[in-house]
Order: sequence, then C-alpha cells, then structure tokens
Amino acid sequence: MAGDVLIYVEHENGRPKRIALELASKAAELAAVTGGSVAAVVLGPEARSAAGRLGAHGVDDLYISEDAAFDQYLTEPQVDALAQVVADLEPATILFPYTPDGKDIAARLSARLDSGLVTNVIGLSAEDGRLLAQETVFGGTYTTTVEVRDSRVAMYLVRPNAFPLRENRRESTIHEIAYQPREASQRARRGKKVQEEGAPVPLEEAGTIVSGGRGLGGPEPFGMLQELANALDGALGASRAAVDAGWISYEHQVGQTGRTVKPQLYVAIGISGAVQHRVGMQTADTIVAINRDSDAPIFQLADLSVVGDLFQLVPALTEEVKKRKGDHR
Ligand SMILES: Cc1cc2nc3c(=O)[nH]c(=O)nc-3n(C[C@H](O)[C@H](O)[C@H](O)COP(=O)(O)OP(=O)(O)OC[C@H]3O[C@@H](n4cnc5c(N)ncnc54)[C@H](O)[C@@H]3O)c2cc1C
Repeated sequence: MAGDVLIYVEHENGRPKRIALELASKAAELAAVTGGSVAAVVLGPEARSAAGRLGAHGVDDLYISEDAAFDQYLTEPQVDALAQVVADLEPATILFPYTPDGKDIAARLSARLDSGLVTNVIGLSAEDGRLLAQETVFGGTYTTTVEVRDSRVAMYLVRPNAFPLRENRRESTIHEIAYQPREASQRARRGKKVQEEGAPVPLEEAGTIVSGGRGLGGPEPFGMLQELANALDGALGASRAAVDAGWISYEHQVGQTGRTVKPQLYVAIGISGAVQHRVGMQTADTIVAINRDSDAPIFQLADLSVVGDLFQLVPALTEEVKKRKGDHR
C-alpha cells in the first residue's frame, strides 16, 4: 500500500540488533507522515521473539519465518522470502541495514524487482509527498540528496547510527511467511560463526570507544589503548591506516569503509582525522583527541584537544581513570 514502510531486521536469536531498532524508529516516523504502517521481516531461529522489542519501536506487523535455511545458507533464502512479502504487501519503501548481509540482500532484491536502491544513507525525510534520502558519496567528502523515481518500491541501505532510537509502543501482529526453501537458493552455505577475541561489544553499540591510528607506530601500543578502553568500560576502535598495516583487525575499523559509531565518548589517539575516518565517528556525543600535531584536522572536530605524545599521555590517563574509579567504589 502506498506509504507503507517495510524494514529488514537483523537479529541474534530473536534479539534485534541496534540498527534494526534504528530502522524501526525511522520507519515509524516516516509512516506517521505518509499515513502508512510499519512492517518488519524477521527470518531465522527465534524470529518470533523479536516482536516485543520491534513493537516498542513502532512496528505494526511482523512477517516471520523460522526456517533453518536462513541460518544455513547465505542471503538467497532471505531474498526469496522478502520478494514474497513485497509481492503481498506492495510497500512503498524498504529500509535495510548497511551491513555485509544487508548490502548483499538489498542488492539482490533490487535486481530481482528491478527497483531503485540508494546506498550509504544517513538521512531520510518525507516532504511534500516525496521521500528524500541523504547519501554520503566520494568517501564521505560530500552528502547528496537523492530521490527514487519510476520504481514501484524504493529501497534504502541505511548506515548504523544514522537515526536515533525512538520508543513508539505498538502491539505487533505476527504473520507467518509461507516460505518454501528452494534448492536454487541454497548454493552458498554459511560456515562457522566466530566471535572475535577482544571485540565483545559490537563497536556500533559501545558507549565509549578508544581508537588508535598510525600514530601508534605498530601493533603493541594497542595493548595500551585496550587498557584505557577497559578502564573506561569501552571498546577498541582503529583508523584504516592501522588496520591496513595489519596492527589490528578490520572488525575495529571506524570510518567510511569501516563502522559508523555514535558513542557517548570517542577518544581518537594518534589519528589525524581524515574525512573518511570522521564520517564514521563525527556524531559521537563527546570527542577527545590526542595528537602531537596541533594542526591535525581531528582537532577541528574535538570537544577536548590534547596536544602531546600519546606514549606519555595514554598511560597517565589510564592511571588517572583507574584511580578515580577506585576512589568512587
Ligand atoms: C575510499 C577510502 C575509504 C577510506 N576509509 C577509511 C575508513 O573507513 N576509516 C579510516 O580511518 N580511514 C579511511 N580511509 C583512509 C583515510 O583517508 C586516512 O588515510 C586514514 O584515516 C589515516 O589514518 P590515521 O589518522 O591513523 O593516519 P595518519 O593520517 O597518518 O595520522 C596519524 C596521526 O598520528 C599523529 N601522531 C604520530 N605520532 C604520534 C604520537 N607519538 N603522539 C600523538 N600523535 C601522534 C600524527 O600527528 C598524525 O596526525 C579511507 C580512504 C579512502 C580513499
């Protein structure tokens, strides 16, 4: 129906990821303007359990299937199920998370439905009957405004942390998708799932992030940053320069080709502040930067700029944080 918004939900055993709740919050806001309703597609084990949290963020209808195929095979079963729901509901808009699976699924679905797809979306607004998307382009250098026209459904791949969470309590109705696994969609089997050591908190969901860059000069000083992150109950991030040098794994990369984060506190250490890094962290509530170059671009963004040598400052800061935490116990 015109005005209806559908979201694709990523979840862990029925617990929606934060980005799913961000999409639900935005979808509810858009549907309130267009006069439509919000539907969500949740696939895989324990999909049904997602209803409570999604309902709390504005989802009216939940379309679920707990078929094992969604966990066993890569993305094609999801595309089949989504195509089925889209054919039934005919939503005007579909929101996907800008994640590895989200990108794969949205691209395949848009090809199958011959529909417009906007990637890298950081803003969406309904104005005068049009839906306008803000998309970051050229590695975060520019933001463009895009409208999907002449397409029966418009799809958007939304970057994590682009939209705030909003409570919008609804009693979601659950609908079972009559999904039949197809052999043709079971070509790529999902391998072993691993939880990387040292990244217990998904970076996108961390309240505090301590990030290191090329200024660290090697992998060892990341141990020192991890200690500071632990003292602050935070997670460890990195610039692409540090990741490309092999000092820390890609899971930690913040920026245009890494993760988009929105913590309460972001501490950038030995990071110059290239635009591709900034686009991933500039909406943090408070930014503290430590850099020995007083002209480093990161200081234009920082709430607190500390000019100095990180090798002297970081251990001292960690000690001080530990001491103050101890004092308050
Ligand atoms: C298409 C594209 C996508 C990209 N995606 C990303 C991305 O997702 N994330 C990302 O981060 N980058 C990305 N980049 C790379 C980006 O352009 C920068 O090259 C990168 O962010 C630089 O990393 P850095 O700040 O750690 O290194 P540098 O720019 O080399 O900065 C190192 C900083 O450390 C400081 N320093 C050195 N020693 C010390 C010391 N002892 N104490 C204190 N400070 C010190 C220096 O003054 C300097 O400011 C991308 C680039 C392109 C073209």
